[in-house]
Amino acid sequence: MSTIAWIGLGHMGLPMTKNLMKAGHTVRGFDLSEPAMNAAAEAGVTTCASAAEALEGAEVVFTMLPKGEHSLAAYGGDEGIFATAAPGTLLIDSSTIDVASCQQLHDQATEAGFEFVDAPVSGGIAGAEKGTLAFMVGGEEAAVEKARPFIEPMAGNVIATGAPTTGQAAKICNNLMLFINMVSTSEAAVLADRLGLDHSVFYSIAKVSSGDSWPLRTWYPYPGVVETSPANEDFAPTFTADLALKDINLALAAGEDTDTDLTLGTIVKDMLQQVSDAGSGGKDCSIVKKLVDGSFDA
Ligand code: NAD
Repeated sequence: MSTIAWIGLGHMGLPMTKNLMKAGHTVRGFDLSEPAMNAAAEAGVTTCASAAEALEGAEVVFTMLPKGEHSLAAYGGDEGIFATAAPGTLLIDSSTIDVASCQQLHDQATEAGFEFVDAPVSGGIAGAEKGTLAFMVGGEEAAVEKARPFIEPMAGNVIATGAPTTGQAAKICNNLMLFINMVSTSEAAVLADRLGLDHSVFYSIAKVSSGDSWPLRTWYPYPGVVETSPANEDFAPTFTADLALKDINLALAAGEDTDTDLTLGTIVKDMLQQVSDAGSGGKDCSIVKKLVDGSFDA
């Protein structure tokens, strides 16, 4: 069993570390947020005062941070991972970040003599808790294979995507579909409600019919239908609207770079932007249902 450093113990990071510990690994963790550190300590993570301290004795480090700028900050600088990790430490970034920052991290890692993979995940908090996340892993083949056994306790699927940054590319395209499907689920759920259908009845039909989707089964936007739905707790966050906005903007930027018209993505981005601009970006992204039914309190 190994010692694993973990940087970023938020909504996703903490439940992911629990599955590593269940598999027998020791996890040394660091987060900038005190509540996140307290929750991690309670869960059995050895909490450390800095990323550098978390890296002591670790053969691999995972980062699970919000955006590209956070990953660049955690890896770079005098106190960063490149400067403080022991030679031979395997570096795995599971954050969802833009392809340009990801390429920069690969380049900097190579320059500093480390193996690095981009390994973003899909499956949400429920997948993180159950250890059933889909990992999309981009990087040199040897590094990807070295990362695989560390990833497996947290994963339902580990898919090698090819060259460096292709994990992030896959994740950005997946999440474009996710957030479009979230809005389509909201529109159908609100319409079904107004047409007099019982929420659970319509849900049970759509789940086994051609309207099925991951947000339908995970985030059905009325309370009391799906156990994992943020609607059960007034849209308390599982995946914040701000992070969703970040992801859809990554897709739109990639669309622009590749001359790809993302009409639906643009509409969904405008909805998430509206939520964020109104100061509700910390709520769950499925709160867009309130834009559909007109109850959003801007
Ligand atoms: P989060 O905001 O809950 O957690 C991120 C944590 O990183 C925070 O606790 C923050 O304090 C910490 N942090 C930021 N900079 C740091 C630094 N330099 N050093 C140490 N800690 C630092 O976010 P999350 O929901 O856990 O998401 C993390 C990543 O996973 C994001 O890129 C997100 O897009 C992606 N993701 C999220 C979900 C989801 O359902 N929430 C699903 C798949 C992927």
